[in-house]
Amino acid sequence: MDQVSLRDKVAVITGASRGLGRAMAIEFGRQGAFTIVNYVKDEKSAQQTLDMVREAGGDGEIAMADVRKPEQVQAMFQGIFKTHKKVDILVNNAGITRDEYFLMMRPQSWLELMDVHLNGIFYCSKAVVRNMCAAKKGVILNIGSGSALVAMPGQVNYSASKAGLLGFSRSLAREVADKGVRVLHVAPGFFESDMTATLDPKFIQQTFAVTPLGRWGLGTELASVVTFLASDDCSFFTGHSVVIDGGRGAIEMEFGS
Ligand code: NAP
Repeated sequence: MDQVSLRDKVAVITGASRGLGRAMAIEFGRQGAFTIVNYVKDEKSAQQTLDMVREAGGDGEIAMADVRKPEQVQAMFQGIFKTHKKVDILVNNAGITRDEYFLMMRPQSWLELMDVHLNGIFYCSKAVVRNMCAAKKGVILNIGSGSALVAMPGQVNYSASKAGLLGFSRSLAREVADKGVRVLHVAPGFFESDMTATLDPKFIQQTFAVTPLGRWGLGTELASVVTFLASDDCSFFTGHSVVIDGGRGAIEMEFGS
């Protein structure tokens, strides 16, 4: 992917201490972005991500903020703007699961998902969008999920919150398009990460069986698409959702299963 360049861009990726956020951070760094690795709990892992960004030829820094906490988000972005004067790319990636069948779902498991996925992108996007509009450029990429499109038992809370990201992305894209700011929604299917590592191996095999490419995606495969979407090569693309799922959504929607 050497043709895509994020040179001179300042990028913030929430939840980049591990998993898909880490993979995106490494690729952003490799393509020249100054990459800010947000984390909430695990500073050591965030530092490891930054080391990997540097090994890939890039640079960046780590920044702690719980995306659920508006005062922490504000403090993080104030620090970033003070030092770097701008944010060119925000990737709202931080995410959690609290899988429970709806009949047993505790209100807490519902609220936690809304808090991280919806309140989190609200606080982070608010923190950058005014500056992006003033600069007449910027990209906000919201990492949703194929679970918002394909029914997943035990994930009513996850699916609902991730579906919310789609509406958020489209509406915001429309509002800020004339200010030169792009907003996109990315819906990964089933990817290898800590989030999926603890799933029942039988469930993993069943998921592979309904995925035309017959496997899960790798972080690097998501990272290369997201890097392209974030780049100026993609300057006429906004308000849309990009599904990266090994073909699963297309097949399940076609047959209604
Ligand atoms: P992961 O390996 O569990 O990593 C989650 C990341 O989010 C961690 O860096 C974690 O930080 C961070 N995080 C969690 N709560 C946070 C908060 N309140 N504030 C800031 N950071 C927070 O998950 P992943 O698989 O990489 O998932 C990344 C994104 O892709 C999520 O939005 C997820 O919903 C989405 N997604 C994943 C898959 C998949 O198959 N893996 C599929 C579709 C969509 P700490 O390490 O500091 O806790």
